[in-house]
Amino acid sequence: MGERAMKIIMLGAPGAGKGTQAKKIAEKYSIPHISTGDIFRANIKENTPLGAKVKGYMDEGLLVPDELVADLVVDRVDKDDCVNGYVLDGFPRTIPQAEALSNALDNKGQSIDFAIDVEVPDGNIVKRMSGRRACIGCGATYHLEFAPPIKEGHCDKCEGELILRDDDKAETVMKRLSVYHEQTMPLIEYYKKAGKLRIVDGTLDIDEVFNAIAEILEA
Ligand code: ADP
Ligand code: ADP
Ligand code: ZN
Repeated sequence: MGERAMKIIMLGAPGAGKGTQAKKIAEKYSIPHISTGDIFRANIKENTPLGAKVKGYMDEGLLVPDELVADLVVDRVDKDDCVNGYVLDGFPRTIPQAEALSNALDNKGQSIDFAIDVEVPDGNIVKRMSGRRACIGCGATYHLEFAPPIKEGHCDKCEGELILRDDDKAETVMKRLSVYHEQTMPLIEYYKKAGKLRIVDGTLDIDEVFNAIAEILEA
């Protein structure tokens, strides 16, 4: 693929399917999947100083402050494995984060190629999140109804135990949805103005959503 432009941002509500699709994109096009949520969860698990700083915000369903996330991503996309592109999942989530990324890319004569908005109505989100199960071993995600593991309660890839994330409990999901509307949705307009926005219907089956995304990326 080489020349194909593949600097991709995933937009969408919590539970819209950003992570699910980002993993498939990363696999198909051999580019890194960079999930800020996964990075933070790994830091919490390993008891790092960054983990200690972000845990309280995550448990409350609030966004981590911009200064704890922007530099981290800007440094990450500078790594060698990002030369052919990357898919950012869960970043940016605020206008200042988008600007920090855009400035850092500008300085290298680069820019984002696509911001893909996975659209799912709020009414579907609670069901998506309450059924989500994450592997404590490798972070793979499943859904009790829509994407069940082969063996109940265990990861297909590593046999790890599947758990409900603390922040996927109904009360926290409602909080995260309101945070999404207030702080993250303005990015849709931001990327629309920049001519980067592409919208896919996230209520379709996982494979149908992916086909729509692949069509956009290969157009
Ligand atoms: P989801 O998969 O449901 O969209 P994530 O795993 O992306 O959730 O994020 C989980 C939590 O991590 C968020 O609720 C927030 O507290 C924190 N977080 C992740 N990415 C960011 C970011 N770019 N800016 C601020 N907080 C973030
Ligand atoms: P996000 O990263 O946007 O928070 P996830 O990719 O983790 O969302 O998906 C949230 C939950 O919904 C997971 O349990 C996942 O298996 C499930 N899911 C993802 N995409 C779909 C889809 N198109 N239809 C039904 N369930 C889905
Ligand atoms: Zn696993």
